[in-house]
Amino acid sequence: MLDQWVKCEKCSSIINKIDLEENLWICTKCNKHLYISARKRIEITFLDFKEMYQDIKPLDFLNFEDYSKKIKMDSQKLGIEDAIIVGTAYLREDIGKDYLIGVGVMDFGFRGGSMGSVVGQKIYLIAQYCYDNEIPLVIFSASGGARMQEGIVSLMQMAKTVSMINRLKSRRVPFINVVTNPTTGGVAASFVGLADIIISEPEAIIGFAGQRVIEQTIKRKLPPNFQTAEFNLENGLIDYVIDRRKIGTFILKFVSSFYKWKSKYV
Ligand SMILES: [Zn+2]
Repeated sequence: MLDQWVKCEKCSSIINKIDLEENLWICTKCNKHLYISARKRIEITFLDFKEMYQDIKPLDFLNFEDYSKKIKMDSQKLGIEDAIIVGTAYLREDIGKDYLIGVGVMDFGFRGGSMGSVVGQKIYLIAQYCYDNEIPLVIFSASGGARMQEGIVSLMQMAKTVSMINRLKSRRVPFINVVTNPTTGGVAASFVGLADIIISEPEAIIGFAGQRVIEQTIKRKLPPNFQTAEFNLENGLIDYVIDRRKIGTFILKFVSSFYKWKSKYV
């Protein structure tokens, strides 16, 4: 019976799993947006998701200790091949008015959402698909940064994703990024920052290095809400902070206006 209860990481309330599930894993006491898996995120946000490129799987090409084992473990636990799932889905305005989008959803539960060769390649491919078909791209980011077990190859994914996102811009294909907790390191510092619209869940952390590391380097105390969505909204790094339950409808506004603009001018 113990696993029927979950302790909120913010307010420490003990909440019934069924209530949390119903509330989309937002604490019923303090509104803290807790972790949800990529599969769950897709289920609550989009319609008719069709996964693409799922045959691309990670390789332990550096023979890094325990890497293969850990990939296998996370993969079995979450039912995904790596830290992102990509594909197409619809957002519904009214019955009969569905808008097609390209989707990428990262999962922090898979190796801390780290970006290695597979995550980079899948972002590249789904962005390419959006470019070819002129449909908006929506990515939910969640990451601790580059994947150390893939060394330099994981760092190269930063340049690769950035160059593909820039191609989207050249064709005026919109890219919306939704920051979820946490979005840090090489993911925050590459494609995420280039989105046309950056939305964040409340209190999500977005930044490059951690607060403690920065404090030690610059030898100054940083504000307590440093790197939170609210802090970043105030300072202009992101555009909106939106409750998880409203994100789908919020994105729909931009997606539908893009399609209306496209039908007028293209
Ligand atoms: Zn709470």
